[in-house]
Amino acid sequence: MDSELQRCITNYRPLFVYFLTPLPLLELMPTLRDEARKQIQDLRDRPREQVDIFLKELLECGEKGIYRSFLDALNKSEDQRWIHDFMIGNLSNELTDKFIYHIENAEAFKKLFDIILPQLNVIDARTLVTVLRPWLSKGENDDLNEKCKSLGSTFALPYIISSALRKKPTWIKELYKHTKEANYSNEVEGKLAKALADYFIFDENKENAEKEEAMDSIECNFLQPSTSSGYFELHGFINKHKNDAENSTPNEQQMELDHEEQNAQEDCEDLDQMSLDSDEIVDDMIDIGSGKKQLCYPFKNYELRGYQHELANLAKRGKNVIICAPPGAGKTLVAANIIQNYYETCGNEETKRKVLFFTPTIVLAQQQNDRFKEYLPSKYITDYRCGNGDNASLLGVKDLDVVVLTPKLLLNELNSDDKQKFVYKLNEFGMLIYDECHHCRGGHPYNNLMRKYFGLQNDLDKLPQIIGLTATLGIGKAKTKDAALQEMKQLCANLNAVAGVVTVRDSQNKKEMEKHIANPDESRLPMNMERGDPFFKEVTALMKNIEQVMKHFAEEPISQAPDYKHDDFDKNMFKRWCVETKNELTLSESSHSRDARSCIEYLEVCGDALDVYYICRPEAALKTFMGETLDTQKQDTPIETFLFQHHSDAMDKLKKLCDDPRCANPNLAKIKNCILKKFAEVPNSRIMLMTQMKIYAYALKDWMNEDDKLKVFQPEVFTGKQPSRDIRGLTPQAQQAIMKSFKSGQHKILISTPHAAGEGIDVADCNLVINYNFLQNESLTVQIKGRVRKRGGEMVHISSDRVERRDRLNFYKTHLMNECTDMLANFVQENQASYREELISLNKLDMKQFQLEVLKKLKEAQVQKRNDEFLLQCAKCKEFACSSYDLGLVDNQHRINITPEFRQKYEIKEHPRKDKRLMGRDWRKISKVVCKKCGHEWGIEAQYKGAFILPLIKIEGFRITEKATKRPYVVRRWKNAPFVPQEIDISVVLRQLVDDE
Ligand SMILES: [Zn+2]
Repeated sequence: MDSELQRCITNYRPLFVYFLTPLPLLELMPTLRDEARKQIQDLRDRPREQVDIFLKELLECGEKGIYRSFLDALNKSEDQRWIHDFMIGNLSNELTDKFIYHIENAEAFKKLFDIILPQLNVIDARTLVTVLRPWLSKGENDDLNEKCKSLGSTFALPYIISSALRKKPTWIKELYKHTKEANYSNEVEGKLAKALADYFIFDENKENAEKEEAMDSIECNFLQPSTSSGYFELHGFINKHKNDAENSTPNEQQMELDHEEQNAQEDCEDLDQMSLDSDEIVDDMIDIGSGKKQLCYPFKNYELRGYQHELANLAKRGKNVIICAPPGAGKTLVAANIIQNYYETCGNEETKRKVLFFTPTIVLAQQQNDRFKEYLPSKYITDYRCGNGDNASLLGVKDLDVVVLTPKLLLNELNSDDKQKFVYKLNEFGMLIYDECHHCRGGHPYNNLMRKYFGLQNDLDKLPQIIGLTATLGIGKAKTKDAALQEMKQLCANLNAVAGVVTVRDSQNKKEMEKHIANPDESRLPMNMERGDPFFKEVTALMKNIEQVMKHFAEEPISQAPDYKHDDFDKNMFKRWCVETKNELTLSESSHSRDARSCIEYLEVCGDALDVYYICRPEAALKTFMGETLDTQKQDTPIETFLFQHHSDAMDKLKKLCDDPRCANPNLAKIKNCILKKFAEVPNSRIMLMTQMKIYAYALKDWMNEDDKLKVFQPEVFTGKQPSRDIRGLTPQAQQAIMKSFKSGQHKILISTPHAAGEGIDVADCNLVINYNFLQNESLTVQIKGRVRKRGGEMVHISSDRVERRDRLNFYKTHLMNECTDMLANFVQENQASYREELISLNKLDMKQFQLEVLKKLKEAQVQKRNDEFLLQCAKCKEFACSSYDLGLVDNQHRINITPEFRQKYEIKEHPRKDKRLMGRDWRKISKVVCKKCGHEWGIEAQYKGAFILPLIKIEGFRITEKATKRPYVVRRWKNAPFVPQEIDISVVLRQLVDDE
């Protein structure tokens, strides 16, 4: 007897019993005896006995080398090759372990089906065959289809299941996935999917928490669709069930279809990256942890930790609360638990009122939606809506169990006059959860939504439960305990948090929480602000020169510029001085005001350059120094010639100094050291460099990309969506994409502005945050620390004395805040009645303030609506430009003047951002419109619908005088102008232009 074969059968019997299909092997093993062949063929429908006989025959046939030919047959049989690989150890260790686990527990696996089987009569056997088709041979497929026809669905099912059982178990995931995608349109499928999930995927996690990570990656592989044909055919399967679903309304169906389309797209993207050849599925399974995108969000049945129970308790009893816990404590999981509890415990009527989960930003909405899909059992349908793209509509939200959305979207809906809108009142929902709820103050959309909520207090329908989630309550400008407490109470009042603030109080729970939240090591490196190098000297010398000239000729004294030679240059103060002085000059009647303004304009550019110079490389400072605002400067007066000459001389010198080692920024070397040190310790690190402004972020990226050691980490910029100066913000889609590639490791360094990455964005693996000289408030301090999620994470502050002073104040404020949060929680517990009264009065106060603001705005608007004539003069040279009566308002946003007289007053200059689209899409920038006399910027010329070019006026460029009273105004925005140009229809304007020609 072949001892090798004997050993093999002893070892692998359970595997063979459950997975081997002898029939196709018979053809490949001609030496087996006919008697055995016949027996096996006769037992067609009893696979287990087939295997028994087959193995017996292997042992008894007495053929030499039978073991070898068995292996060869397995290897030749396409769909059983994996068994061969498994036997010769070609599968990865983790996967082998996994198989062994299942084989050892195979009885339980079979039992599972025994339990489900009697109930399977509702499943259409043919659709199940379709699900399995990629795993079936042609013969099996035909055979099973034939059985469906002759036996009917119910009796065919056992055959199908038993045949499925001998396939490589990847089909289980497929079945699980697709029943899940069909939203368990029938209960049995739901049970089956859940049972499969429990058995195959998640049970082990409970028993063996340490293995969690390894398991996750295996899940990933199991979850991938294995063939394209299987996937697309299944759409029919799902749709069939959908159409069968009795209760689905057209809305629901449409919604689901949309959802599906999206999934299909995602899947296709992944399919592109995967090889579909069945041979390679095994390779794919071996390729564990390759960082492939996880397609499904398997519900993990997370158990709450002790402290999370403490956080969830009050809310689960239906109370309005603010849940306050540090970043990383798992607040979203707590929220998911509260939501699940809400649906499980509320009555039938109540379940119709769904849950809204608000996030302040779109990126967060997408991220939190993903989390809920993972945290909530899949019978709860979750989706996100935001003011962007396909998800911008609230269609169907009332049928979703959890909608993650931005507050703006709902506000617009509530405010809309549309008779067909989807949401009329907030109490159509049962629970409102505000993520990052500390924003619920003043004019934030959160607070505006809550004002709508308070407006419903006398409504007959029950108000929704309100829950706030935050890491910090925020204390505004408060510097004393009383003031801080008051700020917090105001937040509670705004969120109607009648049951107060919930924090972790239990000492045991506190200890547990400490273990789970990352507390980064913090260190500080002083920033080098004492430069005194030739670059610095050159810029400051020019500034000094300009100041002296200005003092010399200006008749009216100009206030002293803030000290720019100081080691700690305060850019904000300097900027403010520039703006104020320019305003004074606009109002001034002095004949020298034009020259004085030119001086300020040059100084402003120098100040900007100096500011960039402290943070970035001299190259970036030089770029700022040559700023485009100087492009339109004229040289018509001796002063203007002087300024131009000195500026270009300085520029030439500065260009040569960029490469001078004396001018290198020592602070960048500090950053580089930190980064390289971290990567040396932990090669797969993720580092975030936080900086104050977009302009710095891009300059720092340039620097890194030109550094041989840093560029390998592929630094990328991550900013908010608001543009600043001339730099565009990132769209939510771009933000999302960058976050993804940061997580995956494509970019290992992210250079971020505080508001973009400070809040909520979860980068679990970020292990170093470098805080590069930016000012923050106490809430942001906590949030940014929260970015360092990885245990053993580190935070380095590189900051100037001034920023450090502010940081110290923040440190104090953070402590004050934490202390007051506890005080508040105590206060609410001990003084329920007076706390509630206080909330009511604070609430009235907020409402009153709000009404006052509204009134004030209305009044301002009334002032603006004056019909008196105003004259527009060039803000710089005071040349008369036009009358307010010549202006027209088109598209409700652009002010134009198309009179021939006005055309004589201006000239056009090339625009550096030519062709950029303006609001409304119909308009594109063409060129700058500047004063013909002095070159001051008056606005832009823009092309309307690719044809007509019209001048759009910027009010900032003018001094405005009331004709009757001669009273002058300086206005920076149109909304503050004392008049409103007459509205004209764009078609009238265009006709007039055509007539003129
Ligand atoms: Zn002018």
